[in-house]
Amino acid sequence: MPTTAPMLADRMNSLGTETAFEVLARANALAAQGKSIINLGIGQPDFKTPEHIVEAAIKAMRDGHHGYTPAAGIPQLREAVCRDLHKRHGVEVDPGHVMIMPGGKPTMFFACLIYGQEGTEIVYPNPGFPIYESAIRFSGATAVPYPLREENGFALSAKEVLSKITPRTRLLILNSPANPTGGAVPKSEFDTLVAGLVDWPNVTVLSDEIYGQMLYDGLAHTSLLSYPEIRDRVILLDGWSKTYAMTGWRLGFSVWPADVVRHADKLAVNCHSCVNAPTQFAGLAALEGPQDAVHAMVAAFDARRRVIVSELNQIPGFRCVEPRGAFYAFPNIEGTGLDSKTLQTRLLEEAGVAVIAGTSFGVFGEGYLRFSYANSTENIREAIFRIKAMLT
Ligand code: PLP
Repeated sequence: MPTTAPMLADRMNSLGTETAFEVLARANALAAQGKSIINLGIGQPDFKTPEHIVEAAIKAMRDGHHGYTPAAGIPQLREAVCRDLHKRHGVEVDPGHVMIMPGGKPTMFFACLIYGQEGTEIVYPNPGFPIYESAIRFSGATAVPYPLREENGFALSAKEVLSKITPRTRLLILNSPANPTGGAVPKSEFDTLVAGLVDWPNVTVLSDEIYGQMLYDGLAHTSLLSYPEIRDRVILLDGWSKTYAMTGWRLGFSVWPADVVRHADKLAVNCHSCVNAPTQFAGLAALEGPQDAVHAMVAAFDARRRVIVSELNQIPGFRCVEPRGAFYAFPNIEGTGLDSKTLQTRLLEEAGVAVIAGTSFGVFGEGYLRFSYANSTENIREAIFRIKAMLT
C-alpha cells in the first residue's frame, strides 16, 4: 500500500514556538467554561492604541490607501523612523536602510535566514525571547546560548558573551530591556562588549530594542546604533507593538547595514510584499503625534512593577529581583520545590492564574516563572493572593 503520510521537510522539526500563545489559548478555553482567569501570561500592553493613531488608520482607508506599498514601507514612514531614531538616540540613519515590517518578529527571522546556515553559529540570550532560538535552528545554524543570570539582575556579562564567539559566529543577538526577565544592560557593559567585538569583524549584531522606551528608575536606554565602531554591522529591531500598544496591528521596523538591506527587502517581497497601508499611516501618526500616552503607559507599568515585585517576594518559595525595563517580572521559584512547567500548569488549572514557565524561554529558565504585569494592580494583587492560597 502506498503511504498517504505527508512528507515534510526536515527543517520543520527544528522550528520552536512561543508558549505564551498556547497558554493564552488554554486560559481563554478555561474562561469560556466560566472559570475566573487572571492573565499574566501574554506579553502585550493592556491599554488601547491611542485614539489619534486609530483615527489615522481610518483616514488612510477613507483616503484610498488600499494598495501595495513599497516592500520597505512608505517613504514618509521610513523618514519618520529616522527622525525618531535621531531624537531618541542621536544617530543619523539613512531612510534607505530602514525596513517597515509586519511586527518585530520578521526582522529576527530574516536576520537568522540571512546570516545563518549549517556550519555557522548564532549567539543568543537564554533565557530569552523563544523565537531567537527557533529561528536560529530553522536557519540551520547552531544556536549558542549565553546565560543571563539572576545575580546580575539578568543583565548580560560582556565577558561571558564574548567567550561564546568563535570564527564560526555570524550573528550575535542582544535584547535590552529584555523579555522575559525585565533585565536591562548598563551602558558600561555594552561598552565592554563593543570593544571586544572590534576583534570579531565578521560578527553582525542584531539588537532587539523593542522595549527601549520602557525603562525605570531613571535608566537611559543605550542603542547599539550609537557605537560608531560597529555601526556598519548592527541590525536594529524595534517597532510599535509595545510602545504604542499596537501588538495586533503588526507593525515594526528594522535598520539594516547598507549592503544587507537589499537582502531583507528581497525576503520581504518574497514573503509578505509589504505591511498593509493603513497600518503604516497609523505608525506615522504614532511617531509624529503626542507621546503623552506612551509616558502614561510607562508610568502605569512602573507603578505595577513596584506592586508585583513586592508581592511576589512575599510568596513562600519565591524570590524576585527588581526588573529594570519592559513589563515582566521573573521570580525564582525553586523554593517551592516545583519545576517551572508544573507550577505554570498548576497555577492556571488550580488558581486560574496564567503565567509562563521560565523553560519556555530556554533551558536556563528552569526554576523561574515569567509574570507579565501588563494587567491592573487589582488583578495583580488578586493573582498573588490566589497563588499564596494555592501554595500554603
Ligand atoms: N522582541 C521581543 C523581545 C519581544 O518580547 C517581542 C514580543 O513579545 C517581539 C520582539 C515581537 O514583537 P512583535 O509582536 O512586534 O512581533
